[in-house]
Amino acid sequence: MGNDESRLAGKVALVTGSSRGIGRAIALEYARQGAKVVVTYNSEAALGEEVIKQIREGGREALLARVDVSDRESVREAFQAAHAEFGRIDILVNNAGINKRGYFEEITDDDWDHIMKINLKGPFICCQEVFPYMKKQNSGRIINISSVAGQYHGPKTVHYATSKAGLNTLTKVVARYGAPHNIFVNAVAPGIMFTDQTADELSSQAGQDIINLTLLKRPGQLKDVASACVFLASDEQEYMTGQVLSVSGGAYLG
Ligand code: NDP
Repeated sequence: MGNDESRLAGKVALVTGSSRGIGRAIALEYARQGAKVVVTYNSEAALGEEVIKQIREGGREALLARVDVSDRESVREAFQAAHAEFGRIDILVNNAGINKRGYFEEITDDDWDHIMKINLKGPFICCQEVFPYMKKQNSGRIINISSVAGQYHGPKTVHYATSKAGLNTLTKVVARYGAPHNIFVNAVAPGIMFTDQTADELSSQAGQDIINLTLLKRPGQLKDVASACVFLASDEQEYMTGQVLSVSGGAYLG
């Protein structure tokens, strides 16, 4: 990633599910680029506190909030706390999301509802709740973390892929509502990412088969997703909205 450390100077960002994984990488990179960051966790406060500590050690400002994206009251309280602390909200990253692998015939109603509640209703609630702040400022950036599963329909997990396809449509519709208020809404769709959770799977034969679906024949790094999220949140671009940007090594095109 570039050494410029001011691409988000003066901005305030809230990243859902930023206590670990992709959200954590986005929160750390946003802070490195000068943003004040609201880090959120759902169940593990200690991991969120570690991210806050790391941001503050880097000389940047951060706030920790507990957010369950499927609970409107908890989302509302987090935005209120963010606004009270930093006086504005420029960037929302709807990153929190879950997956549960399973074949079509095995997925239960409860599995379906649980995935939809967090992956699709959650971003809907967060977009609705952040809009009044952004409208008042007449500016804002919303970035939804989707997945190539939502663009290329699979490979196998029907509820997850459907939730991410829905998130892509949410992105485009909310972009229409945001445009008159200078609120840009885009999605970033990561492909196969190398993380602590996927390391074992990716080193197996099944993992190699998935990697072979990419043009680049390798998994992506968290920094690749974070970098796309900096680009979409920064003032460098002021003409992109309603788009889904794939960070996938050309997944499923090969
Ligand atoms: P992780 O499982 O590593 O982290 C998930 C984060 O979301 C944690 O901070 C967790 O908090 C939080 N979270 C879980 N449930 C909720 C909830 N109900 N409300 C608020 N926060 C919640 O996820 P990843 O980093 O792997 O994935 C992040 C996003 O990227 C997801 O949307 C995922 O679909 C997408 N993605 C991931 C890919 C990958 O390879 N990892 C590929 C493509 C897309 P806590 O730990 O406190 O519960």
